[in-house]
Amino acid sequence: MEQTLVIFKPSAIERGLVGEIVARFERKGLIISAMKMMNLSEELLREHYAHLTDKPFFPEILSSMTASPVIVMILSGKEAISVVRLMTGATNGRQAAPGTIRGDFAMSNQENVIHASSSPEDAAAEIKRFFSPGEIYDYRPVAMKYINGPSE
Ligand code: ADP
Repeated sequence: MEQTLVIFKPSAIERGLVGEIVARFERKGLIISAMKMMNLSEELLREHYAHLTDKPFFPEILSSMTASPVIVMILSGKEAISVVRLMTGATNGRQAAPGTIRGDFAMSNQENVIHASSSPEDAAAEIKRFFSPGEIYDYRPVAMKYINGPSE
C-alpha cells in the first residue's frame, strides 16, 4: 500500500472542518496509519515549503501555518498519493472543482484547508519530516477485502 501525508491547516482547525474531511477519507476507503496534533516551527515550514521560500507571499504562508496547531496524518491505500490529491483539488479553492475538499470548503489560494503530498518522492520525504517510525501503524482492516479486489 502507498502512504501519503496530509496536513489539516489552521484554516481547517479554526473552522471546525477536521471531522468532515477525515470522514471523506474514511468513506473513500483510505486507511489512517498515523495522526497527531502539533505546532509547526518556522524551520520546519522553510523545509516543507522550500519551493516557495523566495515568493513574495512566503511570510503569509508562515503566519497562516503557525496561526494555530495543525493535525498531520498519514493515509494509506492503493495509489493513495494520487487519490488524495484528486480528492484535495486545485490549490486555489475558488478554482478547485466542486466535490473536492478545497472546492467544497475553501474560497482562497492560501487558506485552502489541507496540504497533501504531490508525488511519491514528496510523500516519502514529508512522512519522514513529520513522523518517527514508531508513530506509524501498519495494519490492514478486516474490511480491506471489500475496499480492493484480490488482484489489485
Ligand atoms: P499545493 O498546496 O496545491 O501543493 P503549492 O505547493 O504550490 O500548492 O503551494 C503550497 C501552499 O502555499 C498552498 O497550498 C497555499 O496555501 C500557499 N500558496 C500557494 N500559492 C499561493 C499564492 N499565490 N498566494 C498565497 N498562498 C499561496
